[in-house]
Amino acid sequence: MNHKLQENCGLFGIFGDAEAVQKTYFGLHSLQHRGQESAGIASSNGKLIICYTGIGTVSRVFRSGSGLLEKLANPITIGHVRYSTAGSTSPINNQPLLCEYSRGQVAVAHNGNLINASLLRDEYEAYGSLFKSTSDTEVITHLLAKPTHVSKPDPLAHVLNHLQGAYSLLFLFDNRIEAARGPYGIRPLCIGQTKKGAYVVASETCALDAIGAKFIREVEPGEIVRLDENGLSSRFFVKAGTVTPAHCIFEHIYFAKQNSTIFGENVHEFRKKLGRQLAKEHPANADVVIPVPDSGTSAAIGYAEQCKIPFDMGFVRSHYVGRTFITPNQKLRELEVKLKLAIVNEIVAGKRVVVVDDSIVRGTTTRGKMRTLRQAGAKEIHMRVSCPPLRFPCFYGVDFPTKEELLANNRNLDEIKEFLEVDSIGYQLLEGLLSCAGLPADHYCTACWTGKYKIPVDRPINKFAMERYQLDMFDDFSRVDG
Ligand code: SF4
Repeated sequence: MNHKLQENCGLFGIFGDAEAVQKTYFGLHSLQHRGQESAGIASSNGKLIICYTGIGTVSRVFRSGSGLLEKLANPITIGHVRYSTAGSTSPINNQPLLCEYSRGQVAVAHNGNLINASLLRDEYEAYGSLFKSTSDTEVITHLLAKPTHVSKPDPLAHVLNHLQGAYSLLFLFDNRIEAARGPYGIRPLCIGQTKKGAYVVASETCALDAIGAKFIREVEPGEIVRLDENGLSSRFFVKAGTVTPAHCIFEHIYFAKQNSTIFGENVHEFRKKLGRQLAKEHPANADVVIPVPDSGTSAAIGYAEQCKIPFDMGFVRSHYVGRTFITPNQKLRELEVKLKLAIVNEIVAGKRVVVVDDSIVRGTTTRGKMRTLRQAGAKEIHMRVSCPPLRFPCFYGVDFPTKEELLANNRNLDEIKEFLEVDSIGYQLLEGLLSCAGLPADHYCTACWTGKYKIPVDRPINKFAMERYQLDMFDDFSRVDG
């Protein structure tokens, strides 16, 4: 994928484990692909919650020798890694978001995007509420604290019914964790258990594997799972069967880690199926199949298997190039592409090459890669994409460019081929994509290809919608609460 789309967060929580904080660190580390802008951990000793968050990756924020994990050492813990899709990259928006209200402390960690957040915020501000962040998540804490909500028999369930959009949420109260998944189940959330019996919740099963916990099941759409001293209990805030799920199928195509199982299916296997299906739809006469690593790799394996063309690693990705590389002109931009994705000349020189990628967003980076392939001597380039052309933005927690910036907006396939400077182009059909999925087709969100949003978006919130609240005055590692 070029100009990577960004997921907006990863969640991890564990109840009743002597090494809860260390395990949260490892769990978050394994979810780092879901967000690298900030990381945070909140923990409770049963009475008091403390929290530390910072800008950067997990290993940077909780750097070795800082003593932070030791300070946070408590048996009830939640953690968060963030990429901002609503609210800017500023320490004020780091999570977990810790606050205090009439019932005590609560720390909140959120993965998703609330499409009614700015509406709710305006309502609260009209009555004088003060907000300290620009993220959509803070609205949830105001809903929790509202006196008429606090007095309800199940305040949390009541609050969740006010939220619209995509959300998987962790709430850390002094004596428990409550994990909730939105009624549409757009973002994943799963439950596991350690060998010693401690319950764990995480965005993806790869985080369970990272700490040696076994997968139990997914949190169901519309379910709240409570972890406390009595173990695990469950309740639903939306009547079961009243909402058809809208799992984000892009999680399977690109976001989730290959070793994770989400929406009932292993991600790597799903992507291989996509590759096989793509080869049936768009075969090619070629000498070698190469992936755009890492997210195109599984699909390329499937494509090569189906076409019986040798698979090889024509690109080698550098894991050490950050997102902030300055690219002021075309020449330097091409150098950046080469730096991020080096070519093994021997694999592609003089060959007819099939390149498999998971998706194409703006197309400019893909074109750069194709140019470097030509420079390395590729005789023919056949681009194959394991999802259909992206034509519409996402309002459910993925940072898309504007519709106008998407390569496939207002371009037909010939124009895309010309733009990318390739010999042929083949995108997966939507029907082909859905035929690979284990659940019925109507259980997935496909809005970025179809423009059909299952949750109506009247007043969308995106990364920039709340920038009027922006305060860029905080330093890294600015907040130690509690
Ligand atoms: S619009 Fe696309 S990226 Fe967003 S939730 Fe739907 S399938 Fe996922």
